[in-house]
Amino acid sequence: MTALDITHDPKRTSWVASANVAGCDFPIQNLPFGRFRPAGSQEALRIGVAIGDQVLDLRAAGLVDHDDMNALMAAPVAERQALRRTLSDGLAAGSARESAWAQALVAQSACEFAVPCKVGDYTDFYTSVHHATNIGRQFRPDNPLLPNYKWVPIGYHGRASSIIVSGTPVKRPQGQTKAPDAAEPSFGPCKRLDYELELAWFIGQGNALGAPVGIDTAEQHLFGVALFNDWSARDIQAWEYQPLGPFLSKNFGSTVSPWIVTMEALAPFRAPFSRPEGDPQPLPYLDGADNRAQGHIDMTLEVLIQTAKMRTEGQAPARLTLGKLKDAAYWTPAQLVAHHTVNGCNLQAGDLLGSGTLSGPTLDAAGSFTELSVGGKQAFTLPNGEQRTFLQDGDTLILRGWCEREGAVRIGLGEASGTVVA
Ligand code: CA
Repeated sequence: MTALDITHDPKRTSWVASANVAGCDFPIQNLPFGRFRPAGSQEALRIGVAIGDQVLDLRAAGLVDHDDMNALMAAPVAERQALRRTLSDGLAAGSARESAWAQALVAQSACEFAVPCKVGDYTDFYTSVHHATNIGRQFRPDNPLLPNYKWVPIGYHGRASSIIVSGTPVKRPQGQTKAPDAAEPSFGPCKRLDYELELAWFIGQGNALGAPVGIDTAEQHLFGVALFNDWSARDIQAWEYQPLGPFLSKNFGSTVSPWIVTMEALAPFRAPFSRPEGDPQPLPYLDGADNRAQGHIDMTLEVLIQTAKMRTEGQAPARLTLGKLKDAAYWTPAQLVAHHTVNGCNLQAGDLLGSGTLSGPTLDAAGSFTELSVGGKQAFTLPNGEQRTFLQDGDTLILRGWCEREGAVRIGLGEASGTVVA
């Protein structure tokens, strides 16, 4: 795992004044990567680093000679740590690079963003034991958690082509559904449209086919993390999922935030991993000293909603849930990489590993409407009195995440938002 260095120094400030504002998602200690271009233009996407409310154009700053984010992500860890050091030194208050790099800054408000890299393959895991239990209970009240759950990081292969960047509208899907008491399925718009609070772990350096990644080096293959909303059509899912799992209920749109926060930026917020008393210990290939000492990350995750009515009346988004990543995730990112490759499967730069819905132990930290509304049986009341069991057209769903700790500067992931349209 990454050691702390000068780039994490809480005393370091930037000559970009907006980066020094308390509570800013993108202080100089963060330096996340994304792809951008001037808003409304058809220009080729460029690689940028967020600093305060600005983007540093890496090519304009002379730091890269290409616009290929995947190539940057695939670089050896030492190379990308050197780039982080150069970025931090050059953006630090008093740097001799200020006058040159000031010309390479673009206001984020003047940019449009893309999915931060080309995602070749997308795997979605199921890492929250609380989510698995809540969902399992809706199907099997007496036996909610299947016997493999505490041994195997459960996952399935998703679809990369429908991953979209924050701000892209999400069209309510149509499909086959069947009410439990109906004799035959019917076809029409999804009536149980849901969100899933997830993280997207991005692969940096890949591994060769047939060459598993051991848990002790797993994090060297991770580039960083973004917020991820795996929109889900619950009624379509309920009818189609047996025997091979989710299909069209999950591949009509998955929203990712524009910035990848690197593993280096997360270094001050690492936390120990352990199993609850009485639970099985991970098999040896999923167990390691580093993973035990600091495999988890102390991150706070928040979900907000703004309905069409709230927007019309000028009301700010209302919080649905607030929770902690390490309370939700039963498996660490290193365990996901080690498990995914243990059979020899090759991961490649830009591959996306979804965490699965990150529900905490209590309902105020649940990561989906199907949990908040107990499968649609109990309406959830918003602060303005509106009620929801699932998402309605015009609803904007927003994910936010941040890390904070005494003695470190808070960093944020930005947000992943999307509005449901008919
Ligand atoms: Ca999911």
